[in-house]
Amino acid sequence: MDRLRHTDIKFLRGMGPKRAELLDKNLGIKTFHDLLYHFPTHYIDRRSVYRIIDFAGEDMPSIQVRGRFVSFNVQGEGAKMRLVGLFSDGSGVMEVVWFQRIKSLRQLYHTATEYILFGKPSNFNGRWSMVHPEVDTPENASAQGGFRGVYPLTEQLRNRGFSSRTFANAATEILAGIRTVTETLTQQIITRHRLMGLHEALTAIHSPQTPQQLEQARFRLKFEELFYLQLDIQRYARRRNEAIKGFLFPRIGHFFNTFYSQFLPFPLTGAQKRVIKEIRADMATGRQMNRLLQGDVGSGKTLVALLCMLIALDNDAQACLMAPTEILATQHFETISSMVAPMGINVKLLTGSTRKKAREEIHSQLTDGSLHILIGTHAVIEDNVRFKNLGFIVIDEQHRFGVAQRARLWTKNVIAPHVLVMTATPIPRTLAMTVYGDLDVSVIDELPPGRKPVQTLLRYEENRFATYQGIGRQLRLGRQIYIVYPLIKENEKLDLKSLEEGYESICDTFRDYKVAFVHGQMKPQEKEYQMGLFASGEAHILVATTVIEVGVNVPNATTMLIENAERFGLSQLHQLRGRVGRGEGQSYCILMSKRKIASDTRKRLELMTSTTDGFAIAEADMQMRGPGDIEGTMQSGMPIDLHIANLATDGQIVQLARDTACEILDADPELGHPENRPLIVELANLTTRVRDWSRIS
Ligand code: ADP
Ligand code: MG
Repeated sequence: MDRLRHTDIKFLRGMGPKRAELLDKNLGIKTFHDLLYHFPTHYIDRRSVYRIIDFAGEDMPSIQVRGRFVSFNVQGEGAKMRLVGLFSDGSGVMEVVWFQRIKSLRQLYHTATEYILFGKPSNFNGRWSMVHPEVDTPENASAQGGFRGVYPLTEQLRNRGFSSRTFANAATEILAGIRTVTETLTQQIITRHRLMGLHEALTAIHSPQTPQQLEQARFRLKFEELFYLQLDIQRYARRRNEAIKGFLFPRIGHFFNTFYSQFLPFPLTGAQKRVIKEIRADMATGRQMNRLLQGDVGSGKTLVALLCMLIALDNDAQACLMAPTEILATQHFETISSMVAPMGINVKLLTGSTRKKAREEIHSQLTDGSLHILIGTHAVIEDNVRFKNLGFIVIDEQHRFGVAQRARLWTKNVIAPHVLVMTATPIPRTLAMTVYGDLDVSVIDELPPGRKPVQTLLRYEENRFATYQGIGRQLRLGRQIYIVYPLIKENEKLDLKSLEEGYESICDTFRDYKVAFVHGQMKPQEKEYQMGLFASGEAHILVATTVIEVGVNVPNATTMLIENAERFGLSQLHQLRGRVGRGEGQSYCILMSKRKIASDTRKRLELMTSTTDGFAIAEADMQMRGPGDIEGTMQSGMPIDLHIANLATDGQIVQLARDTACEILDADPELGHPENRPLIVELANLTTRVRDWSRIS
C-alpha cells in the first residue's frame, strides 16, 4: 500500500500534470491511494435501460438510454457555442448537448452507430435533453460489467472531460498495475468476520459485477474504516486511563443514605436507579470516570446528578455542577439547595452576576473545604476558582460547552475529577460511542410515572381564535402558558418586531392575566426578573424566544404555543416541547404554522404531532436532514476521516468494529505482537494529525 500512497497521480497513464492538478484542487486527490479511495456514492445497474417515452418528473436520476444519433448541429456562437445531437431510441427523441470539446466530439460520434448514453435527463419546455452524457458503445459497456459507479464530481472537472468513467477506469488501471494491494487487516480479523480481501474489495467497489459482490466490498471497506477509528479511540482511552489517576470513592455514607431514606422527594424510576449504580461502580474503580448521561427532557437527570454528588461528599470530596445559562444554573441551585438544606450541606451559586463580596466568600470556602457543592455557569471554570478537593463535576446540557472549556476542568485538580456530562439530545448509541470517543454512555430511558404524554396539535393562522380560546380555558384552570417565537440570527430585526407585536397582542387578548416577556438580547438581570415572574407563578403567560429551550422547569405550565413552528427544526421543537408535560395535568403543545409549507416541513410538523419519543425524533431528524448535518458538526475533530462508513446509519458495523478493537487490545494492549504489526502500520498511516480530543472531558 505504501507505493500507492506515495505515487503521484500525474504518473497514471493518460493523466499528466495538468489533469492531476485539477484533481487535487477539486477533490484533494493527490496519489494513487487517494484515487482508489474516492468511491462512487451510488450505482446504476447497466442492465436496466430507460426508454425516452418513459421519462417523467422534475428530478430524474442519472440513467442509461440506448439508441442512435439522428443528427448533429453546432448552434450559437462564441462562449454560447454548443453541439446539439438529436438522439432517438425508437420510443422517443431527446437532445444531447455539449458545451466543450465541440470539434473533437463532432468527429468522434457518428449517426447510425448504436450508443449507450449515461446521464441525467432534464426537461425544458416539454423537451427532454441531456447535458454532457457519457457515451459508450454497447460492446464496451457490457465489457465493463454489471454496475456503473456514480462518483462525486465538480462542475469544473466535468467541463474538463472528467466523468464517472474516468474514475472507474483509473481505479481499474491502478489495480491492474500492481500484483496485489497490501492487506491492511490481519488474516485473523478477515477470517473471523469473513471479510473480502482488500484488493478484491477495491476492485469491486469501483466496478462491481453483482449486487452481492458490491455489498461485500462495501461492508469490508466500512468495517476497515470504523475498526481503525475504534482502535485509535480505544488505544488512547486505555492509555489515558493508565496515565491518569481518578478518585476512589468506595464509601456510601451519611449524606447519601440520609438523603435517600429521608429526603428523596419521590421514589426513583428504575432507569434512574440503574444509572446511579453504573456511576457508583465507576467511582469505585479508582479510575477517572468519563460518562455521558443521556435522558430525554423531563427524565429526571438532576436528581441522579445530586445523588452522585452526595457520594462524592461522603468521600470527603467537593462537587460542582455547571450549566450553560444563568437561568438554568439558578434553577439547579434552587432545586438542589432546597432539597439538601435540612442536611446542613453548604451549596453556593456562582455566575457572572455574583457580587464581589459573595464571590470572595465562595472562593475562600472552596479552598478551605467548607463549601460542599458549587453550582454555576462557566464562571466556575475561571482561573481564580480553586477547590480544596474537587472530586466530581457534572456538566448539564453539554452541547453548549466546548471541548476546550471542558478540558480546562482538568487543571482544577491534581487528581482528575470524575466527570458526568448530561444531555437531553438523543444520539444513537453507536454514534455517541464514536463521537464522544471514550465516554461511557448511560441512558435514562424511562420517564417518571404519572406523566401524561404531551398532546401536540398542528394549527394554522385561521385557527388562531379557537387556539386562543383553548389557552383561555387553561388559564382559567390556573395553568400557565408558554408562547414561543423564533429568533434566528440572520433576521434579528424582523424577528424582534414579530416578538414584540406578539407580546402586545397577547397582552391585549388576555387582559386579565399577567404576561412576562424574555428574549436573548435582554440584559441578564431583566431576563432573570421576567423568568422569575413566571417561575414563581406571578405571571401566567411567558412570551419568549428559544432562550427557554433548555432546562427550565415550571410544572404548572401546561400549554406551549409555538409561533412559526415551520421555522424550527425537529430537535429544537422537541426540546421546546419538553418544557411542558412536567406535572400531573394534561399538557398541550400547539404548533402554529403558515398553511403553505414545503412537504418536508409538513412531514416534520406531523411527526411532532404523532410521537413524543426523543430517540424516534432524533432518528427521523437524521434521516430527513441526512446524517451529514449531524456528522458534519460531530465528526470535525475525529482522528480519521470516513470515506464510506456513516456513523449515523452504520451502527451495527460500528459496534462490531468496536468489539473487535477491544478484543485485540485486551489481548495485546500495545499491539506489540508480530501478527498485529499491520495494524500499527496502518494506524500510523491513517492518523497523522495531532489531536487532544480524546481528552474530551
Ligand atoms: P431533565 O432530565 O430534563 O433535566 P429534571 O431533572 O429537570 O429533568 O426532572 C424533571 C422533573 O421530574 C422535575 O420536576 C423533577 O422533580 C421530576 N422528577 C425527577 N425524578 C422523578 C421521579 N423519580 N419521580 C417523579 N418525578 C421526578
Ligand atoms: Mg435538566
